[in-house]
Amino acid sequence: GLVGESGCGKTTTCHTLVRLLPPSARILSGSIELMGENLVTKSQAEMREIRGRRIATILQDPMASLDPLFSIGDQVAEPVYYHQALRGGRLRQRVKELLTAVRIPSPETRMKNFPHQMSGGMRQRIVGAIALAGGPKVIIADEPTTNLDVTIQLQYLNLLKDLQRASGVALIFVTHNLGIVAKMCDKVAVMYAGKIVELQSVRGLFYNPRHPYTRALLDSIPKLGTKDPLYAIPGAPPDLSNLPTGCSFHPRCSRTMQRCRDEEPSEQYLGDGATTRCWLPIEEA
Ligand code: SF4
Repeated sequence: GLVGESGCGKTTTCHTLVRLLPPSARILSGSIELMGENLVTKSQAEMREIRGRRIATILQDPMASLDPLFSIGDQVAEPVYYHQALRGGRLRQRVKELLTAVRIPSPETRMKNFPHQMSGGMRQRIVGAIALAGGPKVIIADEPTTNLDVTIQLQYLNLLKDLQRASGVALIFVTHNLGIVAKMCDKVAVMYAGKIVELQSVRGLFYNPRHPYTRALLDSIPKLGTKDPLYAIPGAPPDLSNLPTGCSFHPRCSRTMQRCRDEEPSEQYLGDGATTRCWLPIEEA
């Protein structure tokens, strides 16, 4: 899971992972490791082979991913044709299997439909079928349920989880909804102002958050059965082009001290693969 408020850099991180940044953007440092290879050093021609076959994406708005002028069957067939070199009857059979895997009823009939003839939930499932088509090792799902009704959201989350378990694909689930994180994720990275400020197991994150921002996010979740006023993190997220000095969270943090204003915190290892970026992390429970 990758979690954080709107505008903290989650989507830019996703675009970076698949090297689909706008021309003005530069990767200045770091690496993107996938199956022993560093994607930062790959050419765009190499990335075209990697995208879909090894790493695929599901975006928030399915209409941004689907072409209104092509039938559903053609759009699911394209990555199968390209990545798995299937043709004729075998290609058609594979498309039918993918539509069945994402629980599209009457797949033979639906293959002839166009995106506008389907509901939002069905369109998002079609995008899921396209993501699976190349047999990727990683799928990045960037807020895939944001535009769906709540009941359809749950169905879609269950579908993604079932597909993940059945295929063994790794899922990077991007969201600002901590309830979805609890349901979907094993390990969670919390982002603030363009940086990962905490990395924890999902259990550790909910029961023993170590970064004050994570604690504040958890405190902001409305609780049933209480008349206490709803907590909101004071202030607003910073402008990413004009970050505060030191720790970017210091103007909003209840634990701020002088060092927080002066020095940017480095990453600290907390054990068990967990990390935080804070000069005064919350004590271990
Ligand atoms: Fe708060 Fe300081 Fe930690 Fe930043 S470094 S989160 S300001 S305690």
